[in-house]
Amino acid sequence: MDRRDFFRRMSGKKQAIRPPGTQPGEAFYSRCDGCKACVKACTQNIIRLVSGLPVVDFAKAGCTFCGRCGEVCDRKAIVASAALEETWNWRAEISPDCLDKHGVVCRTCESSCEEDAIKFRPALGGRTDVNVLVEVCIGCGACVASCPKNAISMKISDGESITLLKEAVA
Ligand code: SF4
Ligand code: SF4
Ligand code: SF4
Repeated sequence: MDRRDFFRRMSGKKQAIRPPGTQPGEAFYSRCDGCKACVKACTQNIIRLVSGLPVVDFAKAGCTFCGRCGEVCDRKAIVASAALEETWNWRAEISPDCLDKHGVVCRTCESSCEEDAIKFRPALGGRTDVNVLVEVCIGCGACVASCPKNAISMKISDGESITLLKEAVA
C-alpha cells in the first residue's frame, strides 16, 4: 500500500476498485490521463470514469479478467498479464441485509458464483448463515449484481492471508 492509498483508507473514504492490472499508487495516478480506452474496451462494460479515473462497477456484471483494459492502455497505467487473478485482492462480502440471514429463502447469489464460493448453513431460528469462502472467491464481482437486496459488496482482503488460506486447503 503506498502513502496515498494508506491515507485514503485512514480517512475512511471508500477505496475505488480499479481495473485488474492497475499499477500501484503513483505509477497509476501519474500515468492515467483519463483517455477512456479501457472504458471502451471492457468486454463486460463495467469500467467507467469517476473523477477522470477508471473504476470497476459491478452493478451490472462481473469481471472476466480478460485483460483487455490493460492491453489497450498505451500509457501502461493498467498492464495486462497472465496473473491478473493472482494479483487481485478484492473479495465479496455479504452484509446482514442478506434475505437468507433473515429466514427468507433467496440464494440468488449462489447460482451466480461459478467458483462455488458462497456457502449456506442452517442456523438457529430458521435463519441461514451465509458466508463467502475467501480462499475460494476470486473477486470477480458477478454475485454483486445478482443480489436483490444489494447485500453484497467488495472489500480488499490481505493478499498474504489469502495465500495462506489457499495453501491450507490445497
Ligand atoms: S486506458 Fe489507461 S490511460 Fe486511458 S483511462 Fe484507462 S487507465 Fe487511464
Ligand atoms: S479485465 Fe476485461 S472484463 Fe475485467 S475490467 Fe478489464 S476489460 Fe473489463
Ligand atoms: S466475487 Fe465472484 S467468486 Fe467471489 S463469491 Fe462473488 S461470484 Fe463468487
